[in-house]
Amino acid sequence: MIKTASERSLVIRAISTDGSARIVFCDSTAIVRRACGIHKTAKTATAVLGRALTAASMMGSLLKDSDDSLTLRFDGDGPAGHVVCVSDYKGNVRGYMDNPSVELPPNKAGKLDVGGAIGKGSLYVIRDLGLKEPYVGASPIVTGEIGDDVTAYFANSEQVPTVCAVGVRVDRDNMCFASGGFLIQLLPGADDTAAEIIEKNVSGMKSVSELIASGVSGDEIIAQAFFGMEYEMFDEFDVGYVCKCSRGRYLSALASLGQSDLDELIADGGPVETGCMFCGKKYVFTPAEVLAEREKKKKEKKENE
Ligand SMILES: [Zn+2]
Repeated sequence: MIKTASERSLVIRAISTDGSARIVFCDSTAIVRRACGIHKTAKTATAVLGRALTAASMMGSLLKDSDDSLTLRFDGDGPAGHVVCVSDYKGNVRGYMDNPSVELPPNKAGKLDVGGAIGKGSLYVIRDLGLKEPYVGASPIVTGEIGDDVTAYFANSEQVPTVCAVGVRVDRDNMCFASGGFLIQLLPGADDTAAEIIEKNVSGMKSVSELIASGVSGDEIIAQAFFGMEYEMFDEFDVGYVCKCSRGRYLSALASLGQSDLDELIADGGPVETGCMFCGKKYVFTPAEVLAEREKKKKEKKENE
């Protein structure tokens, strides 16, 4: 029997004692299982979305303030279409992809062909830090395997030497039985030996999903990546697949549509239905509700002028 992942996913963080490097580890098995259930993903799609969710969770956990959020978006030309994942500063994530039924033959290495599903294009990292404009970084998609692309993004766009590894194991019943990753970053002033040690360690490690699948703990995976370095465990916390949608938020979005779009939507007088892209929840409004919300918004705008 294969190890059963806990209901909760987990993030563990550690930092080298000399301050040269930090590592974020994530066991995202429960998150990816939830995502599979919501989006009914095919095997290849499970790996695509699962890897992206894992990367977004780890990147999100590096945000500073409780209201900050991070969006990791892949705009590739492959059959997966757009892949969008959003994380809060605690690493709680949600995500969707245009084509959750994408299924490809295995790649040359016999693995799920995530790179083929993503294709060529760009990836975007959008940090909403509560300022007027969000901070947007972009980088070309390198292999489409997600981990490589995030690694390249940090090098190209943020000049932070980074290693990102993410992996998802899917069993024959199309169930995710192990998913996770780690993100290692050199910190300003890091000495060269730290980079050399980490590079050597990481190149000798098994894939992170294989390690999790065979029951290796997050603490042990960090110990492998930081072998030969002194380090301290920083913290450990639960993360989950969390959607923040609400009826009020969708009503407000509908009321903000342009006049002609809104007219078209309520032309037949029937109820207006919207579905959340991230969690599939349905929200139904009467045309009167939408129009009342629009009037309210107009009034508020006038009062603010
Ligand atoms: Zn939702």
